[in-house]
Amino acid sequence: MSTTLSPSAMSGAEQTRSNPLGGVFSKYPGPRAQISRDKNLSWWRRILPIISSHRLTFFSAIALSFVSLVFQTLVPKMLNTAIDNGLVKHSNALHTDVMHILIVGVLAGATGIISRQYVFRTAYNVEADLRSLIYEHLSWLSFSFYDRVQSGQLISRANSDIRSVQMYSTFAPLILVQSFIGVIAFGFMLSISVPLALIAMLIMPVLYFVGIRMRRVLFPISWITQARLADVATIVDENINGVRVVKSFAQEEAEINRLADAAERVAWSYIKDAQIRGIWSPWVQNLPQVGLALVLFFGGWMVLDGHLGPGAILSFNVYLLMLQAPFMMLGQLVMMGQRAKASAERIFEILDESPDIVERPGAYDLVGIDGTIAFNHVRFAYANAAPILDDFDVHIEAGETVAIVGRTGAGKSTIARLVDRFYDVSEGSILIDGHDIRDVTLSSLRATVGVVLDEPFLFSISIRDNIAYGRPDATLEDIVTAAHAANAHEFISRLPEGYDTVIGERGYTLSGGQRQRIAIARTLLVNPPILILDDATSAIDVHVEAGIYEALGRLLHQRTTIVIAHRISTIALASRVILLDEGRVIATGSHEELLASTPLYAEVLAQTTREGD
Ligand code: ADP
Repeated sequence: MSTTLSPSAMSGAEQTRSNPLGGVFSKYPGPRAQISRDKNLSWWRRILPIISSHRLTFFSAIALSFVSLVFQTLVPKMLNTAIDNGLVKHSNALHTDVMHILIVGVLAGATGIISRQYVFRTAYNVEADLRSLIYEHLSWLSFSFYDRVQSGQLISRANSDIRSVQMYSTFAPLILVQSFIGVIAFGFMLSISVPLALIAMLIMPVLYFVGIRMRRVLFPISWITQARLADVATIVDENINGVRVVKSFAQEEAEINRLADAAERVAWSYIKDAQIRGIWSPWVQNLPQVGLALVLFFGGWMVLDGHLGPGAILSFNVYLLMLQAPFMMLGQLVMMGQRAKASAERIFEILDESPDIVERPGAYDLVGIDGTIAFNHVRFAYANAAPILDDFDVHIEAGETVAIVGRTGAGKSTIARLVDRFYDVSEGSILIDGHDIRDVTLSSLRATVGVVLDEPFLFSISIRDNIAYGRPDATLEDIVTAAHAANAHEFISRLPEGYDTVIGERGYTLSGGQRQRIAIARTLLVNPPILILDDATSAIDVHVEAGIYEALGRLLHQRTTIVIAHRISTIALASRVILLDEGRVIATGSHEELLASTPLYAEVLAQTTREGD
């Protein structure tokens, strides 16, 4: 049973409910803002609403970092005065100046610490907002979206792209503040000595261009490293998830070699990165020393000449070191900006995707229904493909059990997906108790129609919580009753921890048949008035099959059921069989009637029964 949240349901008020994936949780109120929907805006204008929803912490961070930097730029100027007045002219007591410098230094440090707290708080809140926006959006995108994209790509987008947008959008303003402070520092330098300030700044443009040059050569290699690391992660992931295939084909050595190759490629790009840094770093580190030497040479000359106090040389040294950071970071800012733009565009690609299946305005809840299903001349095709169903016209009475039989690929599972509105019909309509399923809310529709899939997905949580997934408030008694009905109670009780046994990753610690019985129990617990069994018993061995059919048989007469049948034993559950071929109903009747009247039926049974076994 799956429930999908509609956007309106998600943006609702805070509420508390129990979550099978981890106790009781308070419903996440959602990000405070959405990105701008206007696709014509530049990428940062579209992100802006998210950042401005954190404007209090953001502007506190910027204001405090500005104050801290102003204090910092005061220190060298005060050093200059302290040395010249205290040491050279003896006009001031040195300890008073030292005291002042200490106080300003402590203020600079304190505001710096608080501003950093605010910076990181803003940065990680922006990151959390973007992440929630993306996952919320993914949760209400339709199946057709997932048909098109690869899940690996989605995860990488959600992680690295969010990080690069977050870094740029919160740190870029800070780097700009630093650059602005550079201007103030330069002003102080000018106030001490105009010629020396100009000489000291000679080195800065060189530093700027060296910084840009270094990043330009490092940039491609860092992209290559990222891509190669992703390759290694993919190989490791495939080897862990596909370990059964690797081992059964005895391909361990080939896989080890594949990984070693990929690891070597990562090593190559890291070494290349280190080489480039090795060449460029000495320049970046030592250029400021050239500046210091220039200051010492010309400044010293001016001091000897009596034009300048010796304190100026010390304060210029500190200013030079202070200025070097913004000059280098400005170059970095451009690169970060390019990366953030690319990342933001990839994020927008997801967020701009609109779901195909949406609730109509004024959609109402489907409640208290009997369970008649009417397929009225349904035509359906997957995106850009040939029609799968063509004038499919079937009426199912409340409480009836109908088996749909057809060749592989005939469209049987597609019918199940249409009833739960995972896809919309292209033409015609599907009515439940006379309500067009496009007129009702998605959550009520999906609570009405339960589906047990061929390959059930179980979460890595206890069996009890897996069964309770669609009804987290169910009591243990209800859970046990559902497990009994699905014939799962016996094997669960035999497990060391019974219902509290936590299922290994992807349920591998259970056999296919056991997983299917848990999935059946999960759907039965929700007790949907309409049930669709998609070949759900194919992995159940012959011994338990009889037991489960008996249990299912008891439950089926209370609800409308469509079984997508691959086996004679499944067909036996149904009172009516529908033979589907080339998207149309070829024949309908009881199993015996069809055997007698329609040669194709026997043919299809022969084929599917072979596959099912
Ligand atoms: P059945 O359950 O009868 O074996 P399905 O309903 O699964 O058949 O599939 C019917 C046809 O639709 C097949 O040709 C299959 O390749 C195609 N199909 C199934 N799912 C998709 C999808 N998500 N996108 C495009 N084509 C699909």
